[in-house]
Amino acid sequence: MEVHEVRLRLKAELDTLEARAGRLTRHLRREDEALPDDWEERGASLSNDEVIEALDLKTRERIDAINGAIKRIDDGSWGECMQCGADIPAARILAVPTARLCIKCAGKQARG
Ligand SMILES: [Zn+2]
Repeated sequence: MEVHEVRLRLKAELDTLEARAGRLTRHLRREDEALPDDWEERGASLSNDEVIEALDLKTRERIDAINGAIKRIDDGSWGECMQCGADIPAARILAVPTARLCIKCAGKQARG
């Protein structure tokens, strides 16, 4: 796969995620619907908010990761480990285009 195809794929995912993040934010701000009057329903709606907030956070983290990958593709550092500068193997970077570390450094970081 060519780098420009990866970039297109990332951009497409970014568009999807940004649309989702927009929907989640509108939901959290109650721009779509008012809180239910019924207290029991309101409780259910608020605990649902926690789920949506978590989803919103995850979506934004993913957006940041993809923006970072696109930026690295554009500046030519994509596919290099940010820790040790080694080339990230093609199989890994194509499977995980947002990867910033080679397997060795990623392993070190995971172990702390
Ligand atoms: Zn490394």
